[in-house]
Amino acid sequence: MEVKIGSSVLELIQGDITQQDTEAIVNAANRTLLGGGGVDGAIHRAAGPELLAECRTLGGCETGDAVITKGCKLKARYVIHTVGPVYRGASPSTEGLLKSAYQRSLEVARAKGVRSVAFPSISTGAYGYPLEEAAPVALRTVIGFVQRYPEIERVRFVLRSSRAFRTFEEALGRITSEGS
Ligand code: ADP
Repeated sequence: MEVKIGSSVLELIQGDITQQDTEAIVNAANRTLLGGGGVDGAIHRAAGPELLAECRTLGGCETGDAVITKGCKLKARYVIHTVGPVYRGASPSTEGLLKSAYQRSLEVARAKGVRSVAFPSISTGAYGYPLEEAAPVALRTVIGFVQRYPEIERVRFVLRSSRAFRTFEEALGRITSEGS
């Protein structure tokens, strides 16, 4: 699924983020940046040990913030590491931190002149954020950003499971029909 947001493109695909050819891919990391399971483990395996070596020099990342490294062996030139919130029930502060993880990732991308970014669904694995709640937050934050900063030409959400893909697809359908 693909929609135009001004001159930019927002895409949803089902797949593996480590294989994406966007200029940057986003990692759902933890605050240590020293590797974990899920998407973080997959990105480190695909990028090679040089990625962990660079992450070690960064001294971690706060929840809701993002930092950038090289992509090492990945097709993507950069990896943007962001830390989403651990979900402990719906709350404005948890939602704010999820929003911030997407927003800061895009700010860091823009600061490097990156024009295309692939995101996984942040916080919806080990961190327990329900997909149905996370998808509209993720999509609205990205849409708002590219409306303001069309120099981000393409944002691709790469959803691992068919359930995640369908949930994002339904949420995007609802959001785009609001404006029509
Ligand atoms: P978090 O700790 O932020 O919840 P996880 O890595 O546990 O991070 O999960 C985040 C999301 O990434 C989950 O929805 C999971 O299904 C998905 N995921 C896991 N591996 C990949 C991959 N290779 N590509 C894209 N998404 C992935």
